[in-house]
Amino acid sequence: MDFIHEDFLLHSESARRLYHGYAAGEPILDYHSHLSPADIALPRSFNNLFELWLEGDHYKWRAMRANGIEERFCTGDAPPREKFFAWARTVPFTLRNPLYHWAHLELQRYFGIRQLLDETSAEWVWDCANAQLAQPEFSAQGILRKFRVQALCTSDDPCDDLAQHRALAVANADCAVYPTFRPDKALLVHDPEAFNFWVRRLEEAGSSEIANFTSFLSAIQRRHDYFHANGARLSDHGLPYCYATACKESEAAAIFSHARDGIAASPPEQDRFASFMMLFFGRLDAEKGWTKQLHIGALRAVNTRAEAEYGSNTGFDTIGDHGQAASLCCYLDALERDRALPKTIVYNLNPADNYAIAAAIGSFQDGSLAGKIQFGSAWWFLDQKEGIESQLNALSNAGLLARFIGMVTDSRSFMSFPRHEYFRRVLCNLIGQDMENGELPGDEALLGAMVRNLCFENARKYLDLPMVKDPTGSASETVSSRRTARG
Ligand SMILES: [Zn+2]
Repeated sequence: MDFIHEDFLLHSESARRLYHGYAAGEPILDYHSHLSPADIALPRSFNNLFELWLEGDHYKWRAMRANGIEERFCTGDAPPREKFFAWARTVPFTLRNPLYHWAHLELQRYFGIRQLLDETSAEWVWDCANAQLAQPEFSAQGILRKFRVQALCTSDDPCDDLAQHRALAVANADCAVYPTFRPDKALLVHDPEAFNFWVRRLEEAGSSEIANFTSFLSAIQRRHDYFHANGARLSDHGLPYCYATACKESEAAAIFSHARDGIAASPPEQDRFASFMMLFFGRLDAEKGWTKQLHIGALRAVNTRAEAEYGSNTGFDTIGDHGQAASLCCYLDALERDRALPKTIVYNLNPADNYAIAAAIGSFQDGSLAGKIQFGSAWWFLDQKEGIESQLNALSNAGLLARFIGMVTDSRSFMSFPRHEYFRRVLCNLIGQDMENGELPGDEALLGAMVRNLCFENARKYLDLPMVKDPTGSASETVSSRRTARG
């Protein structure tokens, strides 16, 4: 039998019936990704398996380094073929790491390759995949079609002009591609050089001078409006923890002015400034009915020597142990007191915080919308079988699993869409096991409907993106009205 067979990860009859009957056929709504909108709009085609599969993949680089592979085969200047062979040599050493599952699932779903990847099969796999990559169905848009991705949200700086998103909207591509407002650089007052570089970009994007803090806030608000007009309905923030020591506007303005003059904010000043800005961003999202995403818990660039040499996002971040509950609640509470708490998705990186997060969000549900505050899907280091089960279990026990809006790839690679399949298999296995144990009723229609909703429908309803079709036939907005809205 193939390693990745039809019933992979599905350990009971109930699990198999749920997966094949209710989950496998659902389309994908990938509401958080880091794919390049330019690659989609082009659409990019891939010259070889390295470009599609290894380029930019810090999960693989970490495994390769841990396996004794030199940096020149990871982020370095070795030729693509040699980098692929170095990865292939590493794969047999990733047993029990999720990379082993992902690698074989991906090779099979994209290329029909069923062989286990190792040094001896590498040559054949390289040739077999590269021969197929020349075909049009392997362009960036072809891949989105193949995996029935109905909508995808990219991650974009507020200064980005979104030209590619507009081109895709006009072309009426099969997959709707939306920008996401990610203003992390607006918080960099402790790094005046980077901050001022970004403020200059913001001035150029809005064609207006930023003379003071008031005009800074106005410029950001106009970019938020611009993103909305171009289809955005989500924002995103990558934070070590929720900033929740807000100061008065006058103090934020003073910290801003110092940073503009090249004087770095102290850590407490940066915390207060960021807290002020996060409340500002929260109100912007609430006013427009957007969904705010909070990715909390990473400890970034812990290996400063390597990060300096190889760049950011190359695999030198880790799980932080900041203690999240108090600051998260403080932030959500400050917005709630102003009646300005938007729909919010909290993604957690430290499994020790799962129950704290799952319980905290329950204190801010207000009855206005089912699942208004979401415990986001297992993320980054937790995006694997145990991590997914752990997130699902904490959410089930402290909240309503049935209102969960499901999985995202959070990926920089076009070869990550089988993550949705992986999540669905783990989900169906968990629910199916409960059915077999008699801890959930043996009512396939009841449990099947929940599974189906967790795969697609809950996200579609919750996010209310302008043009994601209801599978039953009606769309929330017509194509022509969307074009007008984006004009
Ligand atoms: Zn992300």
